[in-house]
Amino acid sequence: MKYISTRGNVNKIGFIDTVLMGLATDGGLLVPEKIPQISEEKLEAMSKLSYQELAYEIISYYVDGEIPETELKELINKSYGTFRSHEVTPVVKLKDNLYVLELFHGPTFAFKDVALQFLGNLYSYIAKKTGETINILGATSGDTGASAIEGVRGKEGIRICILHPHGKVSKVQELQMTTVDDESVLNLAIEGTFDDGQRIIKEIFADLDFKNKYHLRAINSINFARILAQTVYYFYAYFQVAKDRDIKNLDFSVPTGNFGDIFAGYLAKRMGLPVGKLIVATNENNILERFIKDGIYQPGEFHSTYSPSMDIQVASNFERYLFYLLGEDSQATAKLMDKFKSEGKITVSEEQLRQVKADFAAYGVQGEECLKTIRQYHKETNYLLDPHTSCGVAAYDACNDEGEVCVTLSTAHPAKFNEAIELCDIEQTYPEQIKALFDKPQHLEVVAASNDEIRQKLEKHFQSAL
Ligand SMILES: *Cc1c(COP(=O)(O)O)cnc(C)c1O
Repeated sequence: MKYISTRGNVNKIGFIDTVLMGLATDGGLLVPEKIPQISEEKLEAMSKLSYQELAYEIISYYVDGEIPETELKELINKSYGTFRSHEVTPVVKLKDNLYVLELFHGPTFAFKDVALQFLGNLYSYIAKKTGETINILGATSGDTGASAIEGVRGKEGIRICILHPHGKVSKVQELQMTTVDDESVLNLAIEGTFDDGQRIIKEIFADLDFKNKYHLRAINSINFARILAQTVYYFYAYFQVAKDRDIKNLDFSVPTGNFGDIFAGYLAKRMGLPVGKLIVATNENNILERFIKDGIYQPGEFHSTYSPSMDIQVASNFERYLFYLLGEDSQATAKLMDKFKSEGKITVSEEQLRQVKADFAAYGVQGEECLKTIRQYHKETNYLLDPHTSCGVAAYDACNDEGEVCVTLSTAHPAKFNEAIELCDIEQTYPEQIKALFDKPQHLEVVAASNDEIRQKLEKHFQSAL
């Protein structure tokens, strides 16, 4: 298995080099040259596996022998051994045709742990194998930061710097990132939005001299390994629901920000999993909803919402989908992305829009609807949705017109977002691990959203590793 860039200007590389490269050196995103196809018989065999065994099977297609079997199995078992549920990502039935896939049983109570526990161990494996220094740089809208820090802290040869938007993450998210007392961890709180942070790190990664000098590595969902780890739970969820009832296809409703998680679902479908509708659930930051409805991809005005981890205007992984929409034509993709850079928007043809609508449904939750849905489901089912999952469930309610069976991805535990839960007049009990955070001192530096200032901080933090 080789990997190529969506913009076509990177020589084919293997899995480990793909992980290390993160963003492709030509500014594109790395994708597998061919998507592996899983036969019906193979799916049938997979349906009986534990989460870890299933993860091994799926990830193996993409690692393609670059990590020996026993070591890959060990790496996977270690990654999911930190989860509080033995099923790793259990499926819970909410009502008739609606299930939730609980992705929040990892160390930081959000779905990002599923990919970042794996990626942390993968980096550690690579560092040990190659003796490479690994300096991780990432931007977060809240959950990736804590999850990435948890994924790599204490691992030899790895340092990490995370940018988060100052004051725009939830209290628990902030505490999870900043209460880690470890000199290999640097938290920069930038005076700006997540999009500013993401743009700055993209610029820094695009400066290849700087990237190479400091051995910079990515943990954002531009890293293909994250997408890969996330495809596993689409398969797992399908098999769990199929045990419960007869299904041909299964719909998924996915709270979406950077298009990473939903792209993993798209990939699972392309691999042969019988997925019906993939519902893109957004909040008022609804660039993706608008694109799916009218074929124009254009950032709008930034809104702070009850679901801050989805407060994103420019969805990094969108380019991966665009590449497939354009028939895997990297030249056409590069051209459109250039156009996006110069004109600030992308418009697709009528025919392409038909394809988009065949691939996705979309719904953007507005304002109070997020809270209303939390209240309603709490009352009717006694299940407490976090505000992101609430967007997913609201989108299911809006898009489910023919009684299709659907799994909504539950991307976070409600305790991470008590700001919204409180507004619903619901009192929740915090898990012990979250309660304990409130007594710990915080470690962070507030900086301007300036490329130069952030580079200086990085030089200082990462230099000590050289
Ligand atoms: C990151 C995140 C999302 C969005 O996921 P993407 O892969 O960026 O689309 C949704 N919900 C929560 C709780 C998150 O942390």
